Amino acid sequence: MSQTPFVTDLMAGVVAKNPAEPEFHQAVLEAADSFELALDRRPEYRRAKIVERLIEPERVILFRVPWQNDKGEYQVNRGFRIEMNSAIGPYKGGLRFHPSVNLGILKFLAFEQVLKNSLTTLPMGGGKGGSDFDPKGKSDDEVMRFCQSFMSELARHIGPNTDVPAGDIGVGGREIGFLFGQYKRIRNEFTGVLTGKGVNWGGSLMRPEATGYGAVYFAAEMLKTRNKTLEGLTCLVSGSGNVAQYTIQKLLLFGAKPVTVSDSSGYIFDESGITTEKLAFIMDLKNVRRGRIKEYADKFKGAVFTPIDAKGDHNPLWNHKASCAFPSATQNEINGKDATNLLKNGVFVVSEGANMPTNLDGVHQFLQEKILYGPGKAANAGGVATSGLEMSQNSVRINWTWEEVDAKLHTIMRNIHRNCFETAETYGHKGNYVMGANIAGFVKVADAMLDQGLV
Ligand code: NDP
Repeated sequence: MSQTPFVTDLMAGVVAKNPAEPEFHQAVLEAADSFELALDRRPEYRRAKIVERLIEPERVILFRVPWQNDKGEYQVNRGFRIEMNSAIGPYKGGLRFHPSVNLGILKFLAFEQVLKNSLTTLPMGGGKGGSDFDPKGKSDDEVMRFCQSFMSELARHIGPNTDVPAGDIGVGGREIGFLFGQYKRIRNEFTGVLTGKGVNWGGSLMRPEATGYGAVYFAAEMLKTRNKTLEGLTCLVSGSGNVAQYTIQKLLLFGAKPVTVSDSSGYIFDESGITTEKLAFIMDLKNVRRGRIKEYADKFKGAVFTPIDAKGDHNPLWNHKASCAFPSATQNEINGKDATNLLKNGVFVVSEGANMPTNLDGVHQFLQEKILYGPGKAANAGGVATSGLEMSQNSVRINWTWEEVDAKLHTIMRNIHRNCFETAETYGHKGNYVMGANIAGFVKVADAMLDQGLV
């Protein structure tokens, strides 16, 4: 794709100022042409350097996390919090614990979070954080000691009206519990400083389900524009963590047929379909026993496990006949070749549970073929939206029922879909949810930044 002078200049600056951060460059590039369309209609954004300010974090916190393993050996990890933009509310976004975590990955996630949180219509700014700590293979005690050390530093930077972290890859209910316990101990305060908490100590019902359910609601809304439903459609799902599990659960409730799951060691293809019973096995395997996905194929006849081929140029998970794809593992898990395979196999709905799971080549192919493509910042916004609902419940000290939260989540996802769809149409790109999400998310933040002056 050819670039306009605006995009070329913007990207030259981003690359020069943020070297060795390819994921951050990719996320900005994916949004840059959408921003330009908004700037053309609103010249005051240019004068106020809104885009230039938006891509510069308000604050980056980087710290040492020392901890002791079960053998008594000293360990050192790196901790991060990117406080990206607080124009429309306190910083809000997850913490990721994974060995691949670095500044560039967290900046891409924080940047996308700003636009995503804006789309939810709730008053939340954008942030992201985490560590290169790998919880895999660690005992509960080791994870607890790490979380306590991590929070010992982070506690001074966050608060219910300042910055409210949540979970992400490698940070689930167990980690949020340890982090919350340490925050409370240091500050002597029981507040809604984290979301994804346990339901008996301030958490919201439906928060675990929210991202996966939301991605499926978003797919259903996209299908509605073509008078179709998910009933009977074969779906490819990647990952087997929080987002993948509840994506599969909701797909089953909608009568669809999920046939794949994966983890970082490989993927399962189950042609007969993943059922409720098989999903219960996956949940126990991943959430309780913390085992590898290969065990699924040992347990269920007919299911095939294919190990990851680190040297391969594509992911065979995306090369099966299907109608829908729900990438729910990590960034850049669909490359150009994978996108070609998906299209060749009949996939016409892609709803991204993961953040930026499709690389730019893949995105261009989806847009060119005019399939129903819901980018992560819109399709997976249900998670943070429900975190926003958790914050509201904490503020007024009430608990909504499961049905109430689900109804609110469903409404929010419908509204996000409509907002993206209508914005894309208004800007002359009907059906392009990437443009719609970027512009709709951007304009709200940009207007707030204008109102608040040069800060
Ligand atoms: P989990 O840690 O619960 O699960 C992640 C899954 O993806 C695991 O199956 C993991 O396999 C796999 N995975 C992670 N990294 C890689 C990798 N580099 N290569 C291959 N597989 C990998 O995380 P979540 O389900 O919470 O998050 C999944 C995605 O959804 C992420 O992109 C996250 O940013 C996004 N997201 C999550 C939200 C949430 O509410 N949790 C909200 C919005 C977006 P293994 O177990 O082997 O590591």
